[in-house]
Amino acid sequence: MLNIDALRVSYGGARALDGASLTVGPREFVAVVGPNGAGKTTLFRAISGVTPIESGTLKYDGRDLARVAPSVRAALGIAHVPEGRQVFARLTVLENLEMGAQSAAARQAWRDTLDFVFTLFPRLRERQRQLAGTLSGGEQQMLAIARGLASLPRLLMLDEPSMGLAPAVVEQIFDSIHQVHRSRDIAILLVEQRAAEALEACHHGYVLESGRIVMQGRHEELLRDERVKRAYLGQ
Ligand code: ATP
Repeated sequence: MLNIDALRVSYGGARALDGASLTVGPREFVAVVGPNGAGKTTLFRAISGVTPIESGTLKYDGRDLARVAPSVRAALGIAHVPEGRQVFARLTVLENLEMGAQSAAARQAWRDTLDFVFTLFPRLRERQRQLAGTLSGGEQQMLAIARGLASLPRLLMLDEPSMGLAPAVVEQIFDSIHQVHRSRDIAILLVEQRAAEALEACHHGYVLESGRIVMQGRHEELLRDERVKRAYLGQ
């Protein structure tokens, strides 16, 4: 479904991605883990078209994304839930969700979507008329994910959903991501600094360091790997 090959991205002279390749199959759950500054967010920005690529290819369903305008990428079913829970603070929960449901198909599925996201996140149902800026950090993350789901994605990209959240809330968010994956016909691409949770959750994982994929494998292989254990799992 998503095939990335030898992707290079630079900011000015500084290279953030240096030949990264990865694949996400239909309904697959893929995690990319790596330290601060490894290039995880840049990878997502390149996929959604916010940041231009220098070389390499990005294919989605066989289509070259370089030829697809960023605004059209969402319509192809790619939803990017950015780092830092960028919700519209002055809009209500419900209005934020509506912002996610822009396409004709998403508008048609609106009632079903609301049922689904409110069952997934009952707190959002209770707070649907509340301004998003007044929600807690965990609730804002739930809203950001729910807004992504409202666009009826086929590929849901989650950028560090655990960032800045207490451990109990992180657990809740990961449970919800699992539930989304089990109950919706979508692929998930997750980037995370919290390697243990991300590698537990995924089918296939990649380790990104200084803009390069240095390791990849099925989740059980990575969880058993001595280097991954030492560098990322604190074991
Ligand atoms: P973190 O987990 O800290 O968010 P990351 O793995 O997501 O890190 P990126 O945000 O993709 O990493 O950054 C990769 C590299 O590119 C870093 O060295 C960063 O300083 C640099 N970088 C990112 N955005 C810009 C920008 N707009 N201008 C210049 N350099 C940038």
